[in-house]
Amino acid sequence: MRYAQIRETDIANGEGIRVSLFVQGCPFRCKNCFNEDFQNFCGGKEWDSKIEQEFIDLGKRPFIKGYSMLGGDPMAQDQDFLNLLKRIKEETGKTIWVWTGYIYENLNDFQKECLKYIDVLVDGPFVEELKDMKLRFKGSSNQRLIDVQKTLNSDKVILWED
Ligand code: SF4
Repeated sequence: MRYAQIRETDIANGEGIRVSLFVQGCPFRCKNCFNEDFQNFCGGKEWDSKIEQEFIDLGKRPFIKGYSMLGGDPMAQDQDFLNLLKRIKEETGKTIWVWTGYIYENLNDFQKECLKYIDVLVDGPFVEELKDMKLRFKGSSNQRLIDVQKTLNSDKVILWED
């Protein structure tokens, strides 16, 4: 996995004060993507055990509510991403929010494995024609804030409510 940026405190992406990881690489080419520089899978920096530890430790600070994963597309990454999710849950128990261009119903087996550790998945590509600046935590109205753990225990998608 490669990554573009880490934010030590982030109040814009998810509930409460969070730490954010912007991964590098996204297969979608949404018109007017917010982070076009993060689309190239060869850009950014290599993810390694040192930066992984630093990121997890940032989130352990008492005032941090959880971890947010954006990009790029976190769900287009490799085993490094799944390992990171597992470690966060096992070592901190804090919430994990993930933004992806994939649609929940179409996720592959690897992505479904990732879901076990995710609390909120904001799914679907950014659609310029459906853009609405008033929306909370998402850019266009086609995207959904999915309560993943409730959805996994249900036969339909359940949306996150704060
Ligand atoms: S899914 Fe997100 S990062 Fe990827 S092209 Fe669309 S807006 Fe950009």
